[in-house]
Formats: sequence, C-alpha cells, structure tokens
Amino acid sequence: MRKKIVAGNWKMNKNYTEGLSLFSEVINMAKDELHGEQQVIVCAPYIHLHSLSALAKGYVQVSVGAQNAHQEEAGAYTGEISTSMLKSVGVEYVILGHSERRQYFAEDNALLAKKTDIALKNDLKPIFCIGETLTERESGEHFNVIKSQLSEGTFHLSADDFAKLVIAYEPVWAIGTGVTASSDQAQEIHAYIRKEIALKYGQAVADETSILYGGSCNPKNASELFAQADIDGGLIGGASLKSRDFIDIAK
Ligand code: PGA
Repeated sequence: MRKKIVAGNWKMNKNYTEGLSLFSEVINMAKDELHGEQQVIVCAPYIHLHSLSALAKGYVQVSVGAQNAHQEEAGAYTGEISTSMLKSVGVEYVILGHSERRQYFAEDNALLAKKTDIALKNDLKPIFCIGETLTERESGEHFNVIKSQLSEGTFHLSADDFAKLVIAYEPVWAIGTGVTASSDQAQEIHAYIRKEIALKYGQAVADETSILYGGSCNPKNASELFAQADIDGGLIGGASLKSRDFIDIAK
C-alpha cells in the first residue's frame, strides 16, 4: 500500500521563533490525533530545519523537509545549500521543482533532473512537483506539459530510485489563488501521471508511488480530493501555516 502523505510547504514565511512554535503545535496535535498510516511532512525554510528535525525525533508520523537544494555537492556557490548539508541536520525530504522555483528562479526540467540525482545520492526523498499553468490548460496542453515535466525530470532514474520519489501535482492556477481543481479534474491528471509511471516502470512501481495534490487545499475540500482513487494526500501551502488547519487536512 502506498503511503498517505500530507506535506506542508511554509514557503518564505515564519521567523525562527514563530516557526518553532508552529511546529511544536503540529507535533502535539499529530501525536494526539493522527494514526498509523497518516504521515505529515513539514517543509520549512532552511534556518528552521536543524531545530525542527531535533524536535521531530521519535515522532514517526512527523518528518521534516526542505523546499529546495542546490544541484552540486559543494563548492563556490555563494548563498546556496547542498543536499548533504540538509541530510546532516536530519532532513528527510526535499521539495524539487515547485512552480515558484520554476517560474521565479528559472528552474527547468534538466536542472531538476540534476537536483533529483544529488538528492537521492545523499539519501533525501524528493517531493517532485509538476503542474500546468492556466494558459497551458486553456490551450489543451496540460497533459503534454505534465508528461514532459515528469519524464524529463525523473524518467532517467532507475526503477529503484524512482520508487523513492513522492510526486506532487500542483496546477499553477490553483496555487495560492483560492481556486481548487475539482476532484474530477485532479483525479484525471493523477490517473494520467500514474499511467505514465506504469508505462515507464511497470504497474507495481506506479501503484506504490504516492501522488499528492496541491493548490488551495483546505480542511473543507481535502476530504473530497483525497477520496479520489489516485490522490494520496496533499502538498499544502497557505493552510499549513495554521496548525489546526494543517492537522485537520491530514485527518
Ligand atoms: P497553496 O500552495 O496551498 O497556498 O495553494 C500550495 C503549494 O504551493 O504547494
């Protein structure tokens, strides 16, 4: 059975003190309210990660992730953070290819393929994001866009390595806009993604891959979205900044 995951993406929010207190609330609620198969991941800004990993120790239901990492191992890359540095402070996951990285930091599929490789090499699990813009959907290009993001970013991997990924489908038009994809629209794409994975790696790998939905997910719409056959949880932006909402989504 594939994992059910709800991952929070804090983006560039919360100073250090605020981050620690939000995360402590998340841990306390998760401890009391989440059960066996439910897992939450908090993807926080770099400065929080060491402390959050220490706080999360011993709570199997709560893991910590970064929101990005550099594609090289080490060197003269002023201001950057490597995957091995993340690993050294106890981080388990890293978001790669978020649409904000693609859009504002010009991250393309080739670069993301490199980031995926180095993350796996350093034993981090990528949460690999794909999703079309509104223009791409309106022009009927969404399936092609999803397919090329997925195949160019990840299909060079061996089946063993691919199986370590979590995929997140986030339609760009639904991120931070309050407009959610309908559960039918999301399910249609998730089923398509799973089919593409099956064509490349076989049905067993496809069936084991967790595919998360992201884009204006909240406690009200989560249950309908997550009830779809191919939606295995969510990647949550805005609503992950409130511990109550985040845990309610996970529940
Ligand atoms: P949102 O963000 O939930 O605020 O729409 C989702 C994301 O960007 O991962």
